[in-house]
Amino acid sequence: MRGQAKDLSDCNTCFIYDEGERESGLEANLRLNSLMFAYVRVIGEKMFEGAAPRHQLSFDNPPRPADTRAMIELEQACQRILAVLAPLPPEPIPLDAAVGRVAAEPILSPIDLPPFDNSAMDGYAVNAADLRSARAEAPVKLELLGQVAAGQAFAGKVRPGTCVRLLTGLQEDVRLGATDPPQVLFGEAVKPWENTRLRGEDVKRGAELLAAGDRLTAMRVGLLAAVGLKALKVARQPRIGLLATGNELVEPGQSLPAGKIYESNRAALAALLTAAGALPRAYPVVPDTLAATTAMLEQALAECDGLVTTGGVSVGELDFVKNAFEQIGGEIQFWRVAMKPGKPFVFGRWRQRLLFGLPGNPVSAVVAFLLLVRPALLRWQGATRVDLPAHSGHLAESLVNRGDRRHFMRVTVDPSGNVRSAGLQASHSLGSLAAANGLVDVPPRTTWPAGTVIRVMRLDF
Ligand code: AMP
Ligand code: MG
Repeated sequence: MRGQAKDLSDCNTCFIYDEGERESGLEANLRLNSLMFAYVRVIGEKMFEGAAPRHQLSFDNPPRPADTRAMIELEQACQRILAVLAPLPPEPIPLDAAVGRVAAEPILSPIDLPPFDNSAMDGYAVNAADLRSARAEAPVKLELLGQVAAGQAFAGKVRPGTCVRLLTGLQEDVRLGATDPPQVLFGEAVKPWENTRLRGEDVKRGAELLAAGDRLTAMRVGLLAAVGLKALKVARQPRIGLLATGNELVEPGQSLPAGKIYESNRAALAALLTAAGALPRAYPVVPDTLAATTAMLEQALAECDGLVTTGGVSVGELDFVKNAFEQIGGEIQFWRVAMKPGKPFVFGRWRQRLLFGLPGNPVSAVVAFLLLVRPALLRWQGATRVDLPAHSGHLAESLVNRGDRRHFMRVTVDPSGNVRSAGLQASHSLGSLAAANGLVDVPPRTTWPAGTVIRVMRLDF
């Protein structure tokens, strides 16, 4: 059941929902009684979201219900975002600009690879049958027809009894007879086709090199070049406006007055957007007023396919993103996802344009981006695979989630798959986020002992 904002004076039995990542002093989903009303008044909240009664409050056994009815599950949130994405139109691009882009159509190989039978090494082209009896003490003599260097093709035929030198030749394995025409003495037998690479053994002409929806890695770019392609069709890149809200924010490079912090979300998110194939466009820091937020959203929505904002999506008096978005005609599709960090995530639509409203805390912003926005950006470009790369690992120490939401914990994973906490798991702790190379999805109220085999999502992709 969805919560709805209620005036306190309207309620005598209702549940309070935790509205943000901040500590409110009240548990989410806690049923209110009159004592608590007084407390709520003291902390200055006038409105909150309530839901229908579910269970009685007992002070002997204070409830910590698992219910997260006002939030949606991460998978559901992802699906709802992916469902509204219409693929961006394709455009041709040169191969040297293709890395990170998504193939818009299948690419078939126009040639065999290798394109012709060729030698894997320098030496001599011979008929293996000629050398069947060759021994060091009884070498076989073959007439030398000529030589070919890399890039040349031998026009003749290596007839029985003859050989051709493939530059530079393996002179240490043969002896040259001082004869005219020249002869080469072979002291060792060879197998038929030994050291040869056969035409098409790697890639057959007509084979599918990339499917539509495959993302171009450096190696795939190399493969396309190897079959002679110079350009291909990929989806257009989404242009994403990047907005950070908050009166406390100061641009890096300036002096830091008391009470202020450096704005760091745009730096991290611009890099993550680029890595996801999007084109980020950073806007100036937005002060916490409805007018400034509305004006900046309006401008950015006019210029971009979608927006990523940070901060201002909780229920504080200075959280204006949702309000401002609705004021300019945007529709909030959902708000709050049952995960930690990143809960106050908001997803909205304004015509064909999308709003991804991330929480302000830097770890919440990055984790919500990776789990909810990155898949959307990749799918928008037509990518088939949109999840973070992941593999299994085993815990080198226990991991505990005492909360009632899934906790995406920062971990380090070593090359043997040993997983450890990356340090402080708080939503402001960029130090441990930067030290981490993995994220682990720990279910609510769960203790995983050392040795547990777990799935690790990679952060160093
Ligand atoms: P908010 O979600 O707007 O309530 O922000 C929560 C907290 O995140 C703020 O108090 C700041 O400490 C931090 N924060 C918000 N925006 C940024 C940002 N752009 N860069 C760094 N920290 C931020
Ligand atoms: Mg804020």
